[in-house]
Amino acid sequence: KLSKRLQTIADCVTAGARTADIGSDHALLPVYLLQSGKCPSAIAGELNYGPYQAARKQIAEAGLTKVIEARQGNGLGVLAPGEADTVTIAGMGGALMADILETGRLAGKLEGVKELVLQPNVGEEIVRKWLSKHGYVLQGETLLEEDGKQYEVLHALRAADSPADVTNERLYDPSFLPAAMEPGLKQEWLYRMGPYLLRQRAELLPNKWRHEIGKLERICKQMGQSELPESREKEALLRGEINAIEEVLSCLQ
Ligand code: SAM
Repeated sequence: KLSKRLQTIADCVTAGARTADIGSDHALLPVYLLQSGKCPSAIAGELNYGPYQAARKQIAEAGLTKVIEARQGNGLGVLAPGEADTVTIAGMGGALMADILETGRLAGKLEGVKELVLQPNVGEEIVRKWLSKHGYVLQGETLLEEDGKQYEVLHALRAADSPADVTNERLYDPSFLPAAMEPGLKQEWLYRMGPYLLRQRAELLPNKWRHEIGKLERICKQMGQSELPESREKEALLRGEINAIEEVLSCLQ
């Protein structure tokens, strides 16, 4: 049985899609996609030797070596253009994820990729910005909690395959939000917190951002104890950030 996080990702993948899971580690996701009959074939990409071997082992034990191929390499470099309909990337930071997507895009590896299912651990904003800049449109966002941690799953389609009324222009316009929320929220927050998560007032959204505030407060405290003059400045910036998040959270109530 998959974890809730991986199951949420699997549920986003369009049935019948040839799927490439990048940074696949034990290849749990591709194995599930094949075993459940959702996908006809898959590629498990891994940069590192250990996880690559773990993927190979898992695929062999599941008897799926004919339909899932483990490939060792960096990011989308393991793909030939046109080989995958869907790319999933999960369990890494948003900056690395955007870097993998951008390097792949420049090398033509996203040609033919209609769907992206992404689960950044941090830096979701960087991923949303990359998607909207490069013609992928979010179809939905899920915020889930597992073992006390919050995870966001972002599901995007190429603009050409996105319904006519779901466009990046619309998603990132503050008018996408309920009228009561809109005046307090600038576009920046749509990228940071997620247009769908905000619009739906996702139940876990305050949890997630209270967690974030907690982290920032711990850093503030360290800054407060430091003698370095630049620590004062940094502390003030962090305080400003904490207040800004608090203000947005108050719009969610
Ligand atoms: N995707 C799985 C999941 O969500 O459960 C595994 C996540 S694991 C924390 C991240 C994996 O990404 C590691 O196995 C790591 O080796 C791999 N990785 C990191 N950078 C990568 C890159 N540039 N290309 C391919 N894989 C990468």
